[in-house]
Amino acid sequence: MNIYDFTLEELESFLVSNGFKKFNATQIIEWIYEKNVKDFNLMTNLSKKLISFLNEKIYFEDLKVIKVEKSTLANKYLLELNDNNKIECVLMNHDYGYSLCVSSQVGCNMGCAFCESGRLKKVRDLKLSELVGQVLCVSNYEKVRISSIVVMGIGEPFDNFENIKRFISVVTNNKMINIGQRHLTISTCGLVPKIYEFADLETGVNLAISLHAPNNEIRNRIMKVNRAYKIEEVMKALDYYISKTNRRVTIEYIMLNGINDSDECAIELSNLVKGKLMYVNLIPYNETSHFELKRSNDFKIKRFYDILKSNNINVTIRKEMGGNLSAACGQLRANQEGCEK
Ligand code: SAH
Repeated sequence: MNIYDFTLEELESFLVSNGFKKFNATQIIEWIYEKNVKDFNLMTNLSKKLISFLNEKIYFEDLKVIKVEKSTLANKYLLELNDNNKIECVLMNHDYGYSLCVSSQVGCNMGCAFCESGRLKKVRDLKLSELVGQVLCVSNYEKVRISSIVVMGIGEPFDNFENIKRFISVVTNNKMINIGQRHLTISTCGLVPKIYEFADLETGVNLAISLHAPNNEIRNRIMKVNRAYKIEEVMKALDYYISKTNRRVTIEYIMLNGINDSDECAIELSNLVKGKLMYVNLIPYNETSHFELKRSNDFKIKRFYDILKSNNINVTIRKEMGGNLSAACGQLRANQEGCEK
C-alpha cells in the first residue's frame, strides 16, 4: 500500500493491528513530512522489526509531472497517475501566498454545459494518495510552501466524498500537510445530501457553490445536476451549513453572455442571497473552442456587480489568473487526450 493512502489515524490502527505501537505512526509521519525522508531504513528511531515490516507492506509512490504551462500568476501542471490516467492542478501566486487548485476525480459526470472537465466522463475517483500527491508533487517541483488549497479542479469533490474527508484530515493535520481548515475550500455543483453531511462535520473548511444561475429555468439549461437538486433545495442546505458552522459560503457565478447576465438575473440573485452569510464571486467565463458559450463583456459584468452592490450583497469579480494557459478547468487534459470536438 502507498504510504500516502493513509491518514494518521488509519496508519495508527494499521500498525496497532499488526502488533506495533500507536506512536510509531507519528514517528513515521514526522520523518516523511518534517524531514522529507522517504526511506524507512533511514528512520533511525524505528525498530528493525518495524522497518522490515514497513519495507514489506508499504511503499512510497509520487505523481509524475508530465507537462507544465507557465504564466506570470499561475502555473498549470498535467500529472500522470500510476495507471497512466492524467489529471491537472494549478498553482496560483497570490499576494498572500501560493494556492493550489486540485482535481478530485479523473473526468467528471456532472455534465455542466460550459465546463471542459465534463467532456471527459468520469473514469474513476482519485485516491487519497492522488489528492495528497498533487500538493506534495507541486510543492516539491516548485520548492514552495503552498498555503491554501481549493478543490476546484477536474471532478466533483462531493461525488468522491469519503476520500475528500480523508484529504481534509491529512491537509489540516499539523504533523502532515499542516494547512489550516480556513485555508481549504471545497467547491461543489450542489449535491444536496452531501452538503448536509459536510455541514455535520462541523469543520472550519470553506464551502463554495457553483450556482451560476438565479432560477431553475436557467440553471436546468446549463447544469444537469439542477434536475436532481433544485435551487431551493441547494439554498436550504446552505442555510443549514451556515447554521451549523457559522462560515460564510461563496456563491460562484460564471458570467455567460445572454444566458445569466441580465439585470433581472442580478436582481433575482440578490433576492436569493440577501441577508445570508454568503458572498458572490462573479467569474468571467473562460471561453473554450468546444462550446458556443461566450463570456459577458466587462461592461455587463460591472453592471451586474453594481446591481448586486446596490442591493447590499457582498460581491467580487474574480481576478483571472489562468486565462492564457490552456484556460481553467480541464482544458489541458482534454487537449492532451485528444478529446473529440
Ligand atoms: N465540480 C465542482 C468543482 C470543479 S469546477 C464544482 O462544480 O464546483 C470549479 C469551478 O470552475 C466551478 O465553479 C465551475 O463551474 C467553474 N468553471 C468550469 N468551467 C469554467 C470556465 N470555462 N470558465 C470559468 N469557470 C469555469
